[in-house]
Amino acid sequence: MTRAALSIDLESYWHAELLRKRIDRSAADDRVLPATLPLLDLLADRGVHATFFVVGEIIETHPALVQRIVREGHEIGCHSFSHRPLWDLSEAQFDEELARFSDMVERHLPGVKPRGFRAPTFSLSPTTAWALGVLARRGYRYDSSVFPLRTPLYGVAGAPSAPYLPAPNLVDSDPAAPIVEWPMTAWRVGPLTIPVCGGFYLRVLPMPLILHGLRQAQKRGPIVIYLHPWELDPDTPRLPLSRRDSFITYHNTGAAMRRRLETLLDNFDFTPMGDVLGAGNALTLQDAAG
Ligand SMILES: [Zn+2]
Repeated sequence: MTRAALSIDLESYWHAELLRKRIDRSAADDRVLPATLPLLDLLADRGVHATFFVVGEIIETHPALVQRIVREGHEIGCHSFSHRPLWDLSEAQFDEELARFSDMVERHLPGVKPRGFRAPTFSLSPTTAWALGVLARRGYRYDSSVFPLRTPLYGVAGAPSAPYLPAPNLVDSDPAAPIVEWPMTAWRVGPLTIPVCGGFYLRVLPMPLILHGLRQAQKRGPIVIYLHPWELDPDTPRLPLSRRDSFITYHNTGAAMRRRLETLLDNFDFTPMGDVLGAGNALTLQDAAG
């Protein structure tokens, strides 16, 4: 059984929460194509299929890119329409985001039926867990938005780090959950929870430590890696941020991150998340007990 998935959050660098409200989009280049095309070439060379959680605005502005992603056998998931975090939305506004995303899929990707969702900025928490019911009513089968560690911006302390059926507090399991949750992979070592699966940690920790952490995490259930195309782009625009935010946002982006991805591809057999969770659309939780 394959126990590893690669997920790509397909968005522009300016969708990141630290930048989202600071940029004049009309005057900026979104860099989506130069960031994503080399990644697609790399995955095609390696014969690897990933899950792309796509922002609806990207389908609208780059339909040919997303059509190529479908054609090359990757899974399409939803990363909202406009990348506003759940804590900025009402239930009705979130439903509207999903409706606008579906309209884009129907218009540009006929026949594609996204089954997975990832919340912008991992904004699923006990106060926004109502989103899971909205997703289930819209036909989604799994969510991948829980970050099992509290950070200054997001995260749920004490949440599981392998697929489970989430109770409203997102920490406990509940067989009546509306939808499967596949949280971000974390390596639990003593009292520490280290999210070795993406973002700042994946760019900063020594690679042998990351591979060890991922293999340890794999003993408890399937693992998921996440990354953004802009992290692989050597020319991602550097915006003026505080020294701390700049380090978190840009350290080891570009060629260094590409080498890290290649090392991950050397070490794991990745499959789309929907395939790991169950054949076709019949999602099961056979891995969740581990
Ligand atoms: Zn995102």
